[in-house]
Amino acid sequence: MKKKSLILIFIIIIFLSSCSNSSAKYTQKYEDQFFAMGTVITQQLYYDDSQKVFEEVKKRFKDIENSMTINTPGSLVDNLNSKSGSGSFVKLNKDIIYVLSKAKNFASLSKGSFDVSVGPLVKAWGVFTDNPRIPNKNEIDKLKSLVDYNDIKLNEKSLSASLKRKNQIVDLGGIAKGYAGDEAIKIFKKHGITSAFVNLGGNVVTLGGKPDGSPWKVGIQNPRGPDGEYIAIVKVSGKTVVTSGDYERFFEKDGVRYHHIIDPTTGYPSKSGLISTTIVTSLSIDADALSTSTFVLGLEKGMALVKKMKDTEAIFITEDKKIYTTTGLKDKITITDDNNEYEYIK
Ligand code: AMP
Ligand code: MG
Repeated sequence: MKKKSLILIFIIIIFLSSCSNSSAKYTQKYEDQFFAMGTVITQQLYYDDSQKVFEEVKKRFKDIENSMTINTPGSLVDNLNSKSGSGSFVKLNKDIIYVLSKAKNFASLSKGSFDVSVGPLVKAWGVFTDNPRIPNKNEIDKLKSLVDYNDIKLNEKSLSASLKRKNQIVDLGGIAKGYAGDEAIKIFKKHGITSAFVNLGGNVVTLGGKPDGSPWKVGIQNPRGPDGEYIAIVKVSGKTVVTSGDYERFFEKDGVRYHHIIDPTTGYPSKSGLISTTIVTSLSIDADALSTSTFVLGLEKGMALVKKMKDTEAIFITEDKKIYTTTGLKDKITITDDNNEYEYIK
């Protein structure tokens, strides 16, 4: 055999072996589950060194949780809250300042329907505690007056913030998981990963599509069905899918459901006529803030806000069991409501 053809055969062998290596590296699925931010988190990766990456994401999520929680005295956000009304700026960190500035932006876009200073009301209702209660009207009115995102003052340079009035409380429960989701994607990208899926208790983030190029299928919970019963499937690649619903956390008294999403204008759990809102977009922090915002805004105002946002789609479910979607989702959604419990408004 000539020297030239020998070289060619050699190159072909190297090429084929490198092809089989790369597919072996990325087609096996690795999965990890842990508990953080009050929910079960599942990561799915197609990457051989996934254990290392899982641990990095876990550590990042725990750090975010530890600095943003208001359930642990001494966390950075707790420090901010306990100094409210003192006039002093409290040293925070980059994560919190970014989340607070996003929160203020969505508060303004939603005209205060989304407002992370809703903390005093969230605390009074205690939906997350073992002793939830219905505060009386006087108490609600007093606490309601403490809610105003304009009182959150940020100093981005010194990474510090202050709350203008005493007893004001910031609660990042409506946006922090979205931020964590984006941070997971950042970590995956840093490792050169191209295909990943993370579920943070209903907040889904994806990187790319599945390794075969097909999109991920994300189930939308039936808001009045058992956990894990989906009424729709949405196909996405490289997008986040975040849902807010009145079924996620609630208590019932005398047949009335009191859930965890508070309407800052009434001080009561939101009664906008929506029982579930899902946002599909690129950044999970935006989706998280928007799903809570639109839940409070209701069908018409919520849809109007979504339409104003770039690259943003939505699925809204009303209490009279109608499903509404933005036009951009129509060819990506399959209704799987086998009992015909809901009406899909096309
Ligand atoms: P989500 O499940 O993302 O819709 O967020 C709900 C959580 O956000 C609640 O458990 C509260 O901690 C917080 N929250 C409740 N009402 C509001 C509101 N109107 N604006 C911002 N955060 C809220
Ligand atoms: Mg949210």
